[in-house]
Parts: sequence; structure tokens; C-alpha cells
Amino acid sequence: MYVKSLTLKGFKSFASATTMRLEPGITCIVGPNGSGKSNVVDALAWVMGEQGAKSLRGGKMEDVIFAGTAGRAPLGRAEVALTIDNTDGALPIDYTEVTIARTMFRNGGSEYAINGTSCRLLDVQELLSDSGIGREMHVIVGQGQLDAVLRATPEERRGFIEEAAGVLKHRKRKEKALRKLESMDANLTRVNDLTGEIR
Ligand code: ATP
Repeated sequence: MYVKSLTLKGFKSFASATTMRLEPGITCIVGPNGSGKSNVVDALAWVMGEQGAKSLRGGKMEDVIFAGTAGRAPLGRAEVALTIDNTDGALPIDYTEVTIARTMFRNGGSEYAINGTSCRLLDVQELLSDSGIGREMHVIVGQGQLDAVLRATPEERRGFIEEAAGVLKHRKRKEKALRKLESMDANLTRVNDLTGEIR
């Protein structure tokens, strides 16, 4: 599995559609200060479902949308598409090439798609979590983040290990199931109350 290409359109400083084609192995991005190198890494995290504006070096999520320059008007949406070579079947999906896309409009939330079919954020997260690229994005280590990893509490460190081991996905499912159970319990109590009243 490796990242085959990344396309940014309206994402941060990348107003026009820009596609980067990558080869297996190590890729280096070089350029002057402020030229957009970190924006490429932000796009990678964002398309994989990153939800924290701070992690994307912004104040709010809409900050990822091209805000305009002296010569170019702001745009209304940001789009990123990530194509992964899956010939080794590392991603649990019957395709040798997988494209994950995320679109965000100024007025609202995000839309996700896998190979052109609309899906939920959860589908993207679950697709990636088995490959070790999880929701918490520990595969992306930004400037200054190493420090945070070294200073992590035992619980946080456990989170890193759980994600790498693929346990996190099941923990999230368990949490979701427990929340459902709680609401079922509440419904049951209400039904019992009503039955009591009718009697
Ligand atoms: P350095 O080498 O200093 O770390 P870099 O190459 O990593 O720099 P980035 O931080 O990726 O650079 O890019 C910063 C540039 O992106 C700034 O010029 C900033 O104005 C621009 N930028 C960030 N968000 C937006 C946005 N929403 N719209 C337009 N431009 C943006």
C-alpha cells in the first residue's frame, strides 16, 4: 500500500486543482518558507477525516478553504482526493486502487466519498483503521509534535499503542454500542412508566 496521488483544490493556499503523483518509497517536499509544504501534510490528514481545526493549524474548520489573495477571490469549497495503491490488499476493500475524497463548503459540514460513492466519515475511518492509519492520525507527526508524544500521559500512550494494534476501532464501536444501550434503557424506563400509568 502506498499513496499514489494527492489532489488539492481550494484547500488552503492551493486555489487551483493541483495533483501530486507519488512513487513507492520516500517522498520529500521542498520549497521556500510559506510555500505550502505543511499545507500538503494538512490536506493528507484532512482527507483522512481529521476533525480538529487546531491540528490543521487553523482557528476553525472553514479555515482550510482558500481564503483569497490580492489577485484571487476566496473560494466556497475545499476538495482533497487521496488515491492509495491497494494491490497488496492492505485496505479491506475489493479494489486495487482506492480514492478517498473529502469536500467542505463554507456553510457547513464535510462530504466524503470512497471511489466516487458518497459515504460517512465513519466509513473512511474504518477503511483506514485496519491499515494502521487511524482516526487519531498518529502516522502524521507535525512540527513540535514529537515533544507532545514524549510528554504523553500513560493513558495517551496507551491510545497510540491501541491505535497501532487496531484496537481503537473496536473501542469506538463498543462506546457507540454502550451509548445505544443507554438510550434503550431510557426508552424502556419511559415505556414502563407509561404502562404503569395505563394500569
Ligand atoms: P515553512 O517552511 O515556514 O514551515 P510551509 O512551506 O510549510 O512553510 P505552509 O505553512 O504550508 O508553508 O503554508 C503557509 C501559507 O499558506 C501561508 O502563505 C498562508 O497564507 C497560506 N494559507 C494558509 N491557509 C490558507 C487559506 N485558507 N487560504 C489561502 N492561503 C492560505
